[in-house]
Amino acid sequence: MRWAWTVPVLLLWTLLPETAHAKKSTSSVTTKSASAAKTPRPAKATGPAPRSVGSPTEGALVGGKRISTSKDLRLVGALAYGMPALVDMLERGAAQVAKKHPGSVLTVGDLSRKGGGEVDGHRSHESGRDADLGFYFTRGGKPFSPKRFATVDAAGNVVGLPSARFDDARNWVLVESMLTDPKARVLQIFVAHHLRARLLAQAARAGASPAVRNRAAEVLMQPRKALPHDNHFHVRIACPSADRACINFAKKQKSDDARAKKQNKKKPKRG
Ligand SMILES: [Zn+2]
Repeated sequence: MRWAWTVPVLLLWTLLPETAHAKKSTSSVTTKSASAAKTPRPAKATGPAPRSVGSPTEGALVGGKRISTSKDLRLVGALAYGMPALVDMLERGAAQVAKKHPGSVLTVGDLSRKGGGEVDGHRSHESGRDADLGFYFTRGGKPFSPKRFATVDAAGNVVGLPSARFDDARNWVLVESMLTDPKARVLQIFVAHHLRARLLAQAARAGASPAVRNRAAEVLMQPRKALPHDNHFHVRIACPSADRACINFAKKQKSDDARAKKQNKKKPKRG
């Protein structure tokens, strides 16, 4: 008589966790059995917490994220790692431009090495908060992506590529997207004076809010002691507010050793 009810109850008890596990992704089962049966987190989520150590010119990157290529984003640089906030901001920016202007592809140059640190050809890019981005261009009125970064003259024409032009509208959408990113805070966008002027004029034409236009005027700048940045944007995001080992701006002076090492390199520095 006792077995008549004990067996079905035991059977039900044995099956419950499996049932709850199977429904985990589609229901809100919150029993103890369900949480015990949770799928292990992917390995990448258990890595070190992301940290930008030191300054952009003398720093390192811990727990960096690799940028992903997609139909909206191509990678032409060799250094593909950055703080997740930077990488996510670039991916969101590329998606936003492509959403407004289908067929757009963001050209991404160098970010940082996987662990950050010194890199050839750049004075900064050491702590996972810097990225070089190619401009959006048109040719014959259509989206056009040259093989590599291309230089733009004062009239907005691409040097050496007849009928190719700096696309004010799409470059502004990218800048606006980065300035209004929900996670990352842009500290600086290096770009040549004449392109800064084009972008601010486009912001006004596009009806951007005064707050965004003021932010753009503040962060878009031609660096004083580096190349003018007439063939790419150099974007830098701010340190996470809680990270005390992170230094926002480039150090003015490097140690004598590091300076000498850099002076010996022949390639021009891109900032
Ligand atoms: Zn750069």
